[in-house]
Amino acid sequence: MKTLNRDIWVFGDYRNYFQNRVTLQLLARAGELAPKTGGSICAIVFGHDIGEYVSEYIAHGAEKVYVVDHPQLKQYSIEAYTGLMERLIKAHRPEILLIGATCFGKEYAPKVAKRLKTGLTADCIDLDINKDGLMIQTSPSFGGNLIAEILTPNNRPQIATVRAGTFQEISHNADAKGEVISMPIPDDLPMERVRLIRSERLPKKGRKIEDTSVVICGGRGMGSKQKFKKIFELAHLMDGEVGVTRPVVHAGWSGPNTLVGQAGRQISPKILISFGISGAIQHTAAIDDADFIIAVNKNPNATMMKLADVAVVADANQACLAIIKEIKKKIQL
Ligand SMILES: Cc1cc2nc3c(=O)[nH]c(=O)nc-3n(C[C@H](O)[C@H](O)[C@H](O)COP(=O)(O)OP(=O)(O)OC[C@H]3O[C@@H](n4cnc5c(N)ncnc54)[C@H](O)[C@@H]3O)c2cc1C
Repeated sequence: MKTLNRDIWVFGDYRNYFQNRVTLQLLARAGELAPKTGGSICAIVFGHDIGEYVSEYIAHGAEKVYVVDHPQLKQYSIEAYTGLMERLIKAHRPEILLIGATCFGKEYAPKVAKRLKTGLTADCIDLDINKDGLMIQTSPSFGGNLIAEILTPNNRPQIATVRAGTFQEISHNADAKGEVISMPIPDDLPMERVRLIRSERLPKKGRKIEDTSVVICGGRGMGSKQKFKKIFELAHLMDGEVGVTRPVVHAGWSGPNTLVGQAGRQISPKILISFGISGAIQHTAAIDDADFIIAVNKNPNATMMKLADVAVVADANQACLAIIKEIKKKIQL
């Protein structure tokens, strides 16, 4: 297949969005490579009600976003998504396709490459463009004993998968502008032969609160042991850990190993969400290194609200429940 343009496409993998930033990281790398190819940075988004992901990709560097939004695409589906990508690529013939090496991406990328009869390099640790305009796909080989630089000289697009964390995302630019190209769903899209009956998150194994990038902290303002269970549910959904204040431990709503503060753990998460916590120094001394703090409290003058990057005046239970509902909608649990 001959290319029509030198565009770099990035597949929009937005499942498990809170932890999985690989699409944003790939958009950032595409932005560094695009001046060398002379093409545009494009995101490809399939799904249903996906407007917010489209905006997010534009805010993270996508110049064009190809969108197929249809209820039939609500669940990530290998067969439908492969068929769609094949058609889109044949119609627009980009130079490069980048896919995150997520569970879905690892299954998806080889199928797309096979359909298009082109090469794929899996689990790249670097990507660049050589003087001939080909993408250098750097990938560990032979069990990591060799680092190979792989080229796809003849067939198009050049496809690579990349693990999360390989590249750094650029910061969110709410003023960024991008072109959104909405495509209809084809009538003859293959029927899915696999039906998803149920999905659930696997339980986490022994991770320390000090090592996690998301901590959900609950305090006395959550009200009761029963209500406090929402804190655990939210932490689970966001792949984070639970932190608590001393009254919570004393009341038996959570164990002493979750105590954050002078008498407990020191934490440095990327995101800390604090529900119903006043912000006593014995607690806040241990959260100084948190990158971004969101506090929910019914009292706008609580110390915790003043410390926070975002302070939400609300009932802690209701706010926690609302976030849980939104996340469940997004991740289709
Ligand atoms: C020597 C010593 C060591 C200590 N070590 C620690 C420590 O390591 N860690 C620690 O956490 N504490 C420690 N403490 C206790 C600390 O001083 C505070 O008492 C404690 O942090 C307060 O916990 P809290 O914010 O959950 O409760 P509170 O101070 O009672 O605050 C509850 C907050 O919830 C809000 N609220 C109430 N209802 C709602 C609602 N429905 N919706 C929203 N918001 C609501 C209130 O406005 C209030 O701001 C220590 C104390 C001492 C003396």
